[in-house]
Amino acid sequence: MGYLENKFDVIVVGGGHAGCEAAISAARLGAKVLFCSLNLDNIALMPCNPAIGGPAKSTLVREIDALGGVMGEAADATYVQMKILNSSKGPAVRALRAQSDKKEYMRYMRNIIESTDNIYLKQCCITELVVKDGEITGAIDEYGNEYSARAVILTTGTSLDGRIFIGLKSYRAGRLGEMPAIGLSDSLRNLGFTVKKLKTGTPCRVDKRTVDYSKMTIQPGDEKLHFYSFKPNRPIREQVPCYLTRTTEETHKIIKENLDKSPMYQGLIHGVGPRYCPSIEDKIVRFASNPSHHIFIEPEGLGTYELYIQGFSTSLPADVQVKMVRSLPGLENAHIIKPAYAVEYDYIPAVQTSHSLMTKKVKGLFCAGQINGTSGYEEAAAQGLLAGINAFNYINGSEMVELSRSSSYLGTLVDDLVTKDIEEPYRMLTSRSEYRLHLRQDNADARLTEIGYKVGLVDDIQYNRYRAKMSEIKREIEILSATKVSATSEVNSVLAQYGEHIDRGIRLAELLKRPNITYDVIKKLDYETDIRQLTEDVTDEVEVQIKYDGYLKRQEIQIEQASKLEKYRIPDDIDYSAIQHISTETKEKLAKIRPKTLAQASRIGGVKPADISVLMVMLGK
Ligand SMILES: Cc1cc2nc3c(=O)[nH]c(=O)nc-3n(C[C@H](O)[C@H](O)[C@H](O)COP(=O)(O)OP(=O)(O)OC[C@H]3O[C@@H](n4cnc5c(N)ncnc54)[C@H](O)[C@@H]3O)c2cc1C
Repeated sequence: MGYLENKFDVIVVGGGHAGCEAAISAARLGAKVLFCSLNLDNIALMPCNPAIGGPAKSTLVREIDALGGVMGEAADATYVQMKILNSSKGPAVRALRAQSDKKEYMRYMRNIIESTDNIYLKQCCITELVVKDGEITGAIDEYGNEYSARAVILTTGTSLDGRIFIGLKSYRAGRLGEMPAIGLSDSLRNLGFTVKKLKTGTPCRVDKRTVDYSKMTIQPGDEKLHFYSFKPNRPIREQVPCYLTRTTEETHKIIKENLDKSPMYQGLIHGVGPRYCPSIEDKIVRFASNPSHHIFIEPEGLGTYELYIQGFSTSLPADVQVKMVRSLPGLENAHIIKPAYAVEYDYIPAVQTSHSLMTKKVKGLFCAGQINGTSGYEEAAAQGLLAGINAFNYINGSEMVELSRSSSYLGTLVDDLVTKDIEEPYRMLTSRSEYRLHLRQDNADARLTEIGYKVGLVDDIQYNRYRAKMSEIKREIEILSATKVSATSEVNSVLAQYGEHIDRGIRLAELLKRPNITYDVIKKLDYETDIRQLTEDVTDEVEVQIKYDGYLKRQEIQIEQASKLEKYRIPDDIDYSAIQHISTETKEKLAKIRPKTLAQASRIGGVKPADISVLMVMLGK
């Protein structure tokens, strides 16, 4: 019995979003997994916003689903509100956002973990890694128990040597009410890893019964529901609204008067915080001319009175927080259940990691999630899935899965992490991708299901459904490209409702390219669309592909051109110091990151096109 001998294939350290995907994927593929976490009652906890998705992040969730991960189905099963953001904008920036029931989400994920064969749970703190001859052989917990494994995946989140700050008070903790992970950072340093600090923060939670919604603007969910998972079981659940309020002159005054009590402004926190999720004191100082900021009041779930105050993250003292909260319209009598806080934690800059998420220094050691310098549940989960797949591939001697930038946001995220020195928490943004029109949430299945199937995480049922959907899309585009409507009075009376008119016969695909025409209008002109009974997933995709045909083709050419540089492989043992006509700084960067291809080298910050030309000539020789 491997369990009695403490012998496993893979050890996953951490029960957060990265850890869950890593453990589930490795175990589903057949590995015996030890799943360790500091507090097993907090598996898949959302310590910040109780929400999954939003711009770029929603695409990551769909990519996880297409590859055979679980975050999408968990978010679909436990939402309290679903909303498409940017619905009036182009498809590249449309994004689904699920407000989640925090407790239900955790319960759902725990159920999957417990019902997956081969996952063994252990509440403990891993304090040391065991490495022999550059290869991982196991890990040791705080009680001195040693567990052996051929692969270890570190997903330690904000807990690694974590320290919480509330005003000028600070104490060691990973998250509010949870121990920090002490010891592992030293073990990593002893193995030669560079360990650095980052910081993040979260707002306070208030009691719903002390809030006056009548002074706020209601933010309901969508009536027409959309879901993350490409699987068909889509639960229809009760939706609850969020509310919008805003900071007032009084809020800004309180914050400015108390900046001397901020650990950030007093220099007590050294780690850099997330630029795209600044604290409210940061917003007020940095955007001093802005008299007010939006604050969203979001439910933490159906079975709780706890409300999350989005946009109000702070590390000011608890008594100041009370005054700040009570200066917001509708929250004049609010009772704070949990204070806001900042947390500083250790991460391992991912330039020490390769595209498979295996570290370069220690074979069999993988890192995923916040430990790689990212921020966000979706970023963490996506990396966890990749690390779980590759840990399994590593122990079986199979080829590692490495995703290109043009394949996915996950590929872009990993490429950014391993080729750029990340000095602040990295969040996925649509602007990080040069292929964002191609990398949409709606076509994640088209881009990645084949890979998920080949890996072994996508089953035959999901795969066949995907194949059928792809052929329906193709066929429908062919039909619309071949079918003409005549310029009859009936046709023009329908078109007139949408401000359109035709003088001569036109193919339906051409008509659909017009800005005011949607697939629903096409259905009114071509009754045979009813016979074909296509689902909305199919018709939405048909509409996007036809409407944006020109842009998509241009992006395909761009991808094709970029892939040429990907073909120039750089030998692992190349001696950069011996290359002439490249600056010393560039040589040092290349030697540190050791890109595998010329394309990767070209994306390293500071590497110039002229350097790439020198390398190309050298590789040619
Ligand atoms: C205060 C706070 C504010 C945040 N603010 C934001 C935000 O504004 N925007 C945003 O996108 N994200 C935010 N997040 C981050 C978000 O929670 C994380 O990005 C996400 O949860 C990371 O997932 P993960 O799996 O990497 O780590 P986590 O979800 O943090 O999970 C890590 C797990 O590892 C366990 N663990 C750690 N070390 C050990 C060990 N040695 N042995 C055993 N178990 C261990 C921990 O107990 C925990 O269960 C915030 C998090 C916190 C705590």
